[in-house]
Amino acid sequence: MKASQTVFEDGLCFVRWIDYSRLMVFLVILFFVLGSIFGSFLNVVVDRLIVGQSILGRSQCDYCRKVLSPWDLVPVLSFLILRGKCRYCRRKLSWQYPAVESLTGLLFAATFYLQVVGENIGLTTLAFLLVITCVMVIVSVVDFKYSLIPTTFVFGASLLALFYDFFTLPSGVFIDHVAAAFVAATFFGSIVVLTRGRGMGSGDIVLAFLIGMVLGFPKMVLSVFVAFVAGSVIAILLLIFGRKRFKQTIPFGPFLVFGFYIALYWYKPVVSWYVSLFR
Ligand SMILES: [Zn+2]
Repeated sequence: MKASQTVFEDGLCFVRWIDYSRLMVFLVILFFVLGSIFGSFLNVVVDRLIVGQSILGRSQCDYCRKVLSPWDLVPVLSFLILRGKCRYCRRKLSWQYPAVESLTGLLFAATFYLQVVGENIGLTTLAFLLVITCVMVIVSVVDFKYSLIPTTFVFGASLLALFYDFFTLPSGVFIDHVAAAFVAATFFGSIVVLTRGRGMGSGDIVLAFLIGMVLGFPKMVLSVFVAFVAGSVIAILLLIFGRKRFKQTIPFGPFLVFGFYIALYWYKPVVSWYVSLFR
């Protein structure tokens, strides 16, 4: 019923002679490219803000400090063409750059395809989810790399989500999202208290709050569940392959973000699959 009311048919598809499915393929690729450009900026944010540098100023090679040309900074492609080495000093560049660029590209493309085409969300919601995606990428990369969660970004995003929910959702759903945020935060808060801060940190509490605020019930529950399952599987694999010892901790933020996207994109299929297991 709502399919004819998508943003495309209302807005972009006024050009009736364009093949709809080819337009979709083009837009998915466009969102990937857009995401990878944002991703290359997010790399700069991760590397400079965490150590307290300004995000302004030209990008340099980490080793030889040579100012990089625009040709060295094309997301993903430059890394592949230069075979992961600096053009000037031939030192190996971190795989963080192409990884974050392609991850952000994939998340932008998936958010566009699964949410706009699949769920008929409007442009405001799309813009909101892309901003949230940028924060989620920063949070997972920083937590993965430095084992800390940049709470300023998470608080900012939570505030944005609160306003977004308040202005776009019906009152009942808005209250449901706020409740999900507080329940998620309380749940992680009690884990932090019970484990005396080993395993989880206060950063995970605010990240869970953000996820609850964006997803609401019952998606928030699935995201936390998936995060724990994924975290346990990876922890066991790392123990088996001897990469970690038993008392070492692995950052939980990336798993929460992973659970967030599973619940955001595939809530219905995952839940019906899970229910079918017990029939
Ligand atoms: Zn260099």
